[in-house]
Amino acid sequence: MVVANQKGGVGKTTTTVNLAASLALHGARVLVVDLDPQGNASTALGIDHHADVPSIYDVLVESRPLSEVVQPVPDVEGLFCAPATIDLAGAEIELVSLVARESRLQRAITAYEQPLDYILIDCPPSLGLLTVNALVAGQEVLIPIQCEYYALEGLGQLLRNVDLVRGHLNPTLHVSTILLTMYDGRTRLASQVADEVRSHFGEEVLRTSIPRSVRISEAPSYGQTVLTYDPGSSGALSYLEAAREIALKGVGVHL
Ligand code: ATP
Ligand code: MG
Repeated sequence: MVVANQKGGVGKTTTTVNLAASLALHGARVLVVDLDPQGNASTALGIDHHADVPSIYDVLVESRPLSEVVQPVPDVEGLFCAPATIDLAGAEIELVSLVARESRLQRAITAYEQPLDYILIDCPPSLGLLTVNALVAGQEVLIPIQCEYYALEGLGQLLRNVDLVRGHLNPTLHVSTILLTMYDGRTRLASQVADEVRSHFGEEVLRTSIPRSVRISEAPSYGQTVLTYDPGSSGALSYLEAAREIALKGVGVHL
């Protein structure tokens, strides 16, 4: 599942790590691929990602096997992370001259032999070659949308890119899931944006939206997901519920 939105700060990383942890806590085996040079998903999962750590850069640019960079996430059984280091910032340019530059992540994932139920890929806030690699490697796209004005601006471009990748490189790719994030039910704007997103996307929008929650934003500074940092908080419960919807959708049950 590719977690993408080229708009910055909409909750891609927060959604990736907390959904991944929720699915793992339900008993699934889950790999998070950190595809953002900022390395925020690696930080949030408590994974070392200083410059010397074997990382997704080595996989994409040096063709190193994914199994050599994947690390188990401390505290969450069944959760794994392929970290990103700052090297990845150069990959966007280095990839340009490499063969099969759009499908390097796909090849690495196909060759990865460990049993997994889900792979979640955290994309950077751009539509460059890193995001294209994610779209070529993935089966479905999850778009987090922050309930703010401008939320839908720029989405058209992401959807066109999904169509292009589907047309040329990955025929089964589709936008399966929209998740409303940082929802503040007290504001009229948030509910207007939510209504607009629901009328535009319909079925794909999860019923569960993620509330704005201080606990969610504090967790990464402890190298934790909100699921281990404060399991009873509204933020943790909403991600568990969103994960349950995704898991049921995956087996064809719509709530
Ligand atoms: P980027 O485009 O830079 O990769 P992103 O889309 O991955 O950003 P996040 O890093 O997940 O977005 O979130 C942006 C900021 O909002 C972070 O500081 C995060 O802690 C905070 N945040 C995300 N979701 C919530 C929430 N539900 N409640 C409160 N704060 C949140
Ligand atoms: Mg991010």
